[in-house]
Amino acid sequence: MKPLTEPEIRAAFVNCTKGEASRLNVPRDLAEQPWDDLDFLGWRDPQAPDRAYLATVLDGRPVAVALRSSGAASWQARRSLCSLCVTTHTGGVSLLVAARAGKAGKQGNSVGAYMCADLACSLYVRGKKEVGTKLHESLTLEEKIERTVANLASFLAKVTA
Ligand SMILES: [Zn+2]
Repeated sequence: MKPLTEPEIRAAFVNCTKGEASRLNVPRDLAEQPWDDLDFLGWRDPQAPDRAYLATVLDGRPVAVALRSSGAASWQARRSLCSLCVTTHTGGVSLLVAARAGKAGKQGNSVGAYMCADLACSLYVRGKKEVGTKLHESLTLEEKIERTVANLASFLAKVTA
């Protein structure tokens, strides 16, 4: 994906207030992120481990969402599939919940999805980061990337709907 700057990322948040978007922790090493291998940038808040964020470019526009871990530890202990990149992890998948954008979010509506706990889906898909169990799949790398991007787009569509 196209590299994003900190101001671009902060301006792209769709499901938190401008104040929250200006205060939240954006990675300081943005220049060193492997952008060429990323379909989205995902990170955990180092000061609040139950908070995670992801930023991507959708239809040419940066989009970012704030996520929270559900805190249900029992889920994380089970082997589960990431709903974005379809990687199987043992203990490495978190249920992450995004408040919906706008009025729906203010009324407490949210959307949850199981995701790689470290949000490094793009790197798992490309084999740049290893997992214990690999699903045997006949898809090409291109197809897996397309699937990840499509899954992410449909998650973001639910957040912004
Ligand atoms: Zn994943």
